[in-house]
Amino acid sequence: MPRAIQNVCVYCASSQQARPVFYQAAAELGQILAKAGISITHGGGGVGLMGAIADAALAAGGRVVGVLPEFMHELEWGHRGLSELILTADMHERKTRMLEDADAVIALPGGCGTLEELLEAITWKQLALHGKPIVMLNMAGYFDPLAAVLQRTIDEKFMRPEHSQMWTLVDQPADVLPAIENAPPWGPSARNLAAL
Ligand code: AMP
Repeated sequence: MPRAIQNVCVYCASSQQARPVFYQAAAELGQILAKAGISITHGGGGVGLMGAIADAALAAGGRVVGVLPEFMHELEWGHRGLSELILTADMHERKTRMLEDADAVIALPGGCGTLEELLEAITWKQLALHGKPIVMLNMAGYFDPLAAVLQRTIDEKFMRPEHSQMWTLVDQPADVLPAIENAPPWGPSARNLAAL
């Protein structure tokens, strides 16, 4: 049965200097989500892929919620036109808020901030603290090396083969929602797999 998806958490870059293909993909995904009536929660940034996905979704009539730590708000790093801006005391509270309301997680290309958020979402899923679908938008093969490292953790028995079901890689923005809908179920019993 298809999942009911109302709100997705999107992790993505703040950089403004990456190749255009990445901003185009973020904008395309923003349009797709807005047209599907799906709300986006992201890190609240006004620039980079965060800005690109938010601007496109808002222009298409979508809802975008930013979750920004107070210190970034003081630095005026926040997007000024979001549907809602939630300020948090620190980075930890920000990540918790971003994840807890979401029905699914999407990672777009990004730097250490994006990778850290993505790996935390995978780590918490491994511990069965949540069972949300996690989809990486693998534009230009960006996530290929990370996928190889994740496979290595399985090959070297730091994770189980079943753990590869926690995430899905897709090549195009149009593939993101089908991947979320078709994500393998991940329930509380997954905690039995957590210890190796
Ligand atoms: P990265 O993939 O390293 O760009 O990480 C994205 C994360 O960068 C966000 O979640 C923020 O923690 C942080 N960040 C860095 N610069 C900005 C900015 N100008 N606006 C908002 N967040 C930023």
